Amino acid sequence: MTFKGGVHPPDRKELSAQRAIQTVAVPKQLSIMLSQHIGAICKPLVNKKDTVTAGQVIGNADAFVSAPVHSPVNGTVKDIALCSHPVLGRAEAIIIESNADNQPKHPCPNNFDVDFDPTYYSPDQIFEAVRKAGIVGMGGAGFPTSVKIKANPQSPITDIIINACECEPFITCDYRLMLEWTIQILAGIALISRALNCKNIYIGIEDNKPDAVATFKKAVESIPFANGMNVVAVKTKYPQGGERQLIKSILNKDVPTSGIPPMIGVLVSNVATCAAIAEAVVLNNPLTYRPVTVSGRGVKNPGNFYAPVGMAAGELIELAGGLTEDAVKVIMGGPMMGFAIADLSTPLTKTSGAITVLTPKDFPKRKETPCIRCGRCVAACPVNINPTKIAHAVKNNMLDVAKQYYMSACIECGCCSYSCPADIELTGYIKTGKILVARAKKLMPA
Ligand code: SF4
Ligand code: SF4
Repeated sequence: MTFKGGVHPPDRKELSAQRAIQTVAVPKQLSIMLSQHIGAICKPLVNKKDTVTAGQVIGNADAFVSAPVHSPVNGTVKDIALCSHPVLGRAEAIIIESNADNQPKHPCPNNFDVDFDPTYYSPDQIFEAVRKAGIVGMGGAGFPTSVKIKANPQSPITDIIINACECEPFITCDYRLMLEWTIQILAGIALISRALNCKNIYIGIEDNKPDAVATFKKAVESIPFANGMNVVAVKTKYPQGGERQLIKSILNKDVPTSGIPPMIGVLVSNVATCAAIAEAVVLNNPLTYRPVTVSGRGVKNPGNFYAPVGMAAGELIELAGGLTEDAVKVIMGGPMMGFAIADLSTPLTKTSGAITVLTPKDFPKRKETPCIRCGRCVAACPVNINPTKIAHAVKNNMLDVAKQYYMSACIECGCCSYSCPADIELTGYIKTGKILVARAKKLMPA
């Protein structure tokens, strides 16, 4: 079973797939965004010139749907100011200057044991640890994980799906994580299962990663706490890693158009998030570091890094050998769903799994031409909406019409733009429309 629509872009994963994850040295300066998640924006809890320690909460909000932010390093607050944000344009950040020395060594991941016992932790302890650690969906959604793993007897979760697809071209950090931190990921999955008292677990991995499928199959058979988890090889097709698409492929269930997976009893979590959950619950570590792929034909030496949140994109690009002479576009994220950035000081957030740099070979500059009504964008859309009608409405400032065409259901996968022979940036128009609606409702800064 698989979902309708979707596309098959060249995946270019060979550029970084064999590059093991390297932990980066502590940068001199970090910009910790106060908005890195869906929900209430954090307020700073520190002032300029304050001393901070690694793991200290530096921003928080009272709302249930939010996630605190922490300092990844020992250092001093240099400023609290507007910085370039990968999604919001500019947003407030706490800028920290790290101490030249006296930095704690970030605990090496994958120090989990096969006899790990998730029942040692109660569901409340797991929820509290995840909330305090500021964990959000690291696959890109940024929804606070504590909210997702809080058991609700009125609406129980019956199936847990672990999203290990990594369907975006170029990105390989989750793939490396699966090979290198297998036990830690499984420990995180077992903790989610314990928090929700749900034993139906499916780990969905695209079939273009046969070694990851084999590693997980072997692990769930041999590791006692992972026995009974199902490893499912799903078809390689973009956007297989979309929540709705993966639920359709694995459970053959549909999430209602304006609904979310828990409405049909399903929780979906990404593999990096599972690893962060294990680290938070067992080691009491907040989410301050994350795996990130820096790839594309526009960087000299693509690779995978374990980097502190707040590190500038430009510094990560330097670690990957720097830009090539023909680099033309830097994207925070992958080429399908990421956001182009013009400022290389834009910091990594908890949801940034990749920095992709494209060259004219990947990104031929073509001029938009009029729609020829071929319907390819409609056929490619995995959520069965009409991209051309929505884009047309946004272009003409008719946001009410765009809403009537279910603009909010768009998952911003980019399939419509990718398939359009007229080179209309359909996804761009739809993203703009959604931002304009959110700003009108004051859900996003202007
Ligand atoms: S309309 Fe949205 S969900 Fe549909 S193909 Fe375009 S970007 Fe993807
Ligand atoms: S794919 Fe492009 S040209 Fe074809 S209907 Fe959609 S917008 Fe028009």
